[in-house]
Amino acid sequence: MTDTPQDFGTLAIHAGTEPDPATGARQVPIYQTTAYVFRDADHAAALFNLAEVGYIYSRLTNPTVGALQNRIAALEGGAGAVCCSSGHAAQIMALFPLMGPGKNIVASTRLYGGTYTQFTHTIKRFGWSCTFVDFDDLDAVKAAINDDTRAVFCESIANPGGYITDLDAISAISDEAGIPLIVDNTTATPYLCKPIEHGATLVVHSLTKYLTGNGTVTGGAVVDSGKFDWSASDKFPSLSEPEPAYHGLNFHEALGPMAFTFHGIAVGLRDLGMTMNPQGAHYTLMGIETLPLRMEKHLANAKALASWLETHPAVSAVTYAGLGSSPYKERAAKICPKGAGALFTVTLKGGYEACTKFVESLNLFSHVANLGDARSLVIHPASTTHRQLTPEQQIAAGAAPDTVRLSIGIEGVDDLKADLDQALNAAG
Ligand SMILES: *Cc1c(COP(=O)(O)O)cnc(C)c1O
Repeated sequence: MTDTPQDFGTLAIHAGTEPDPATGARQVPIYQTTAYVFRDADHAAALFNLAEVGYIYSRLTNPTVGALQNRIAALEGGAGAVCCSSGHAAQIMALFPLMGPGKNIVASTRLYGGTYTQFTHTIKRFGWSCTFVDFDDLDAVKAAINDDTRAVFCESIANPGGYITDLDAISAISDEAGIPLIVDNTTATPYLCKPIEHGATLVVHSLTKYLTGNGTVTGGAVVDSGKFDWSASDKFPSLSEPEPAYHGLNFHEALGPMAFTFHGIAVGLRDLGMTMNPQGAHYTLMGIETLPLRMEKHLANAKALASWLETHPAVSAVTYAGLGSSPYKERAAKICPKGAGALFTVTLKGGYEACTKFVESLNLFSHVANLGDARSLVIHPASTTHRQLTPEQQIAAGAAPDTVRLSIGIEGVDDLKADLDQALNAAG
C-alpha cells in the first residue's frame, strides 16, 4: 500500500469503503437491515457503553450509511461525520448538542429560504433563537454575539447565489468568542470549498443536491473538524460534562476529537431519529464518485452562461461570483479557488411578470424547487422558496421579485444557451 491517498478524485471513489468483509463485494452493499446480532451479552454491553464500535440498530448506525459518513468526513477534512435524513435535519443535528433553552445563534441574512424559516420560527419551539446579521459587516457580527450565543452559522456560497462568505474573517470572530462556526457547504461542495481549512468547526450538507447529484435522494450530513475544545468553557455541557441523556458519559473526555460525532449518533440520532436510510446512502456514495467530474462541467457551463446572460438585452443583472463584475470575485478566489459554483440569479428588466413568463417558457430547464442536479433547473424564489419572507428579507437574501435562480446542469452548453435565449425573448 502507498501512503493514504490525498487527491480529491481518489478520495471521492475510495475513502470510507473497502471490499465488503463478508462477501468481497467491491461496491458498498445496501445493508437493508434494522438490527444486528450481538456476539454475546458482553459484546452487547460494550456496544451500548461505546467501549466498542459496532452496530446495534439502524436508527443509530448502519454499514452503508457509515461508509458514506467516512467518505464525507474524508472529503471535508473532518474527524467524523453523521449522516441524517435531510439537509434541514443536519442543521438541527448540528445545533442540538450545543444549544439549550434561552441560547441563541448568530446567522447570516444570506441563507437558503428554508433555513431562514427554520431559524426564525421553528427553533423557537425549542427555546432557541437566531439573530440575523449582514456577514459583510464584521462589527455587526461581533456585536450580535452575547453570552448566550452558542454558534455562528453561514453558507460558504450562499443560496440563491452570487454571495461568498469571508469564512476566514467570520471564523476569527467565532474563535475569539469561544464558539463554533457552522458552515452550510451545500452549494459549494467540498470539491470547491473546504470550510474547515478556513476555520469552521462544523460543516453541514444537504446531500440532496450536488453530492448525490441527480435529484434522487433526500439526505444530510454534519461533519466535525474534531478541533474545537468543548471543555475550554462551561458553554457546552452536553459534550464537556457528564451527559444525563447518556448515563453520565463525558463525551469530550471519553472520545476526544470524536466527541461531537459520537454524541450525534448516540444521543442525536437515537433520540431525534432523523436517520438516513441505507438505500439513500448508497445512491449518494455512487453520486460522490463522479463529483469532481460533474463539478468541472457545472462550473464551465455556469461561467459561459453567466457571461453571456450579462450581455443579453432582457437582463439587467447577473449575480455570479465567478464574473469579473462581481463584488465577491476576490473573495471567491480565496474561499473557492476552483470556481464559484453553478448557482446564480438573473434579474430581468421586465420584473415579476417577465420572470414568471421566462420560467414557463423554458423547455430544457425544469421548473423545480431543487438545485445541484445534473439537469439544469430554474425557480423564481420570490414566489416559491423565499415566499414566506417579507419583500425586504427577500431582497436581503438575494431573492427579489424580479430575480430568477438558475442551477446550471451538465448538459451541452449550446443547448442550454438556446433554451435560455428563446425563453428570454418570449418573456419580452
Ligand atoms: C436544500 C438546501 C438545504 C436543505 O436541505 P434538504 O435536504 O432539502 O433538507 C439547506 N441548505 C441549502 C444551502 C440548501 O440548498
